[in-house]
Amino acid sequence: MMKRRLTSPDDAKTRSQKRKRGSSLMFTLEEVAAFFNIFEDGMVKGFLQRDMCYRIADKYLLAMTFVYFKRVRMDYRFYSPTAFFIALYLANCVEEEDQGLRKEILPWTLGVYWENCKKFFLNARDQLWREMGFNAIVSKELCEEVMALAPDHPIWRRNRLDHHGDAVKLCHQTEVVSVRGPYAPPPPGCIECDEWHTQSQYPDDFYSSPPC
Ligand SMILES: [Zn+2]
Repeated sequence: MMKRRLTSPDDAKTRSQKRKRGSSLMFTLEEVAAFFNIFEDGMVKGFLQRDMCYRIADKYLLAMTFVYFKRVRMDYRFYSPTAFFIALYLANCVEEEDQGLRKEILPWTLGVYWENCKKFFLNARDQLWREMGFNAIVSKELCEEVMALAPDHPIWRRNRLDHHGDAVKLCHQTEVVSVRGPYAPPPPGCIECDEWHTQSQYPDDFYSSPPC
């Protein structure tokens, strides 16, 4: 039987319904340190802070980026905010239904003229996907193995609340999302997540701080 050819990362998302136990990866100390060092970057911190509902960068999508680096055998010295944003964009393409939200990544990595150079960014995403042999699906178990490398790291506190799950996203497919980037005022938070952040035991760090 002829297999359907995947022509874009979005085509792979139907396969994500069939999560299987992923094979374990080996991580060196240098790789782990380089990965977490990405989250010390000011632009990455700002981006995560703005994603208040964790709809673009919840803990699973963040873990997927590290798996992608490993799958393409990227030298840890090349782990960077740009590589992270490309990997995060691909993870969103594979796992998330809402196509508008992921565009918010673009101005954070490409700057104010992001629309002029998004083609190069998307080419880089496709290149990453090709180098992985078009295998961008990551099992929940493998994501949790990544989290277990440094279970106390604050990026793993980014638990998306249930009301932002798939069913709600499907209902909101017609929602028009404007890209704000780092230069526009932050979007209003939603009531449920605002309440969660207010009650969080980590109200002052950038991974879980309440909206301005
Ligand atoms: Zn929310």
